[in-house]
Amino acid sequence: MSRMTDEFKTGTPRSPTRRRAIALAGAALLVPSMAQARLGTSRVLRVPHHGRQQFGQKSYAETLPLAEGEVILTFDDGPVPGLTDRVLSLLEAENTRATFFLIGRNAAAHPHLVRRMISNGHTVANHTMTHPWTMRNISHERALADIEAGERAIVQAAGQGIAPFFRFPGFADTPCLLEHLANTNRAVFGADLWASDWNTMAPGAQLQLVMSRLRRQRRGILLFHDTRPQTVAMLPDFLASLKRENFRVVHTVPA
Ligand SMILES: [Zn+2]
Repeated sequence: MSRMTDEFKTGTPRSPTRRRAIALAGAALLVPSMAQARLGTSRVLRVPHHGRQQFGQKSYAETLPLAEGEVILTFDDGPVPGLTDRVLSLLEAENTRATFFLIGRNAAAHPHLVRRMISNGHTVANHTMTHPWTMRNISHERALADIEAGERAIVQAAGQGIAPFFRFPGFADTPCLLEHLANTNRAVFGADLWASDWNTMAPGAQLQLVMSRLRRQRRGILLFHDTRPQTVAMLPDFLASLKRENFRVVHTVPA
């Protein structure tokens, strides 16, 4: 950089180097407006997790306090190489933050992706070790063990503590498991709306579906799966739609 600056000061005749320096200076001037055009995050929401905390009106009476136009992005079931990489790159390009509910065995298999999530500023949380389908169909003891094994695997992959948030596979909770999570100070995340991305559909159809729901509800905890190619394919247009329609992304972190 100092060489570039010196060339400007001395006013040397236009050389290829100087032309390149001018082009670079021009690009630098564009940075502020490009940054403004990115989606970003409008605020950080500190989510309480002590005692019984359950959020998301698809399953629970309460949800997180969001204003009109505010959305929380959540991605379940990763990380998987390729698809999760792409999701992280797209979110990074928009300078925005999400919460990832990971499957412990996927985290153990791909710890570099967990670390990338953390270094990119995302929130990482537990979605069980093996994604039992569902927790209601296995014993309480097995379900508890799967939750705790998931937590340990993700913490180990992350190399640090993770958010005390939990989401049940298929939102299939049980009273005893909810009590355990309340007693261990972990907030339970349901969702307020989703893209139904477990159903196979074209990315364009999925975009239309989720945006029509969002335009109606105007706010909420939004569920996606970073393991679904159609979701990953839709994501650039989805993020562009959020921007165009002035939705704002809220980043959830533990209180
Ligand atoms: Zn899941």
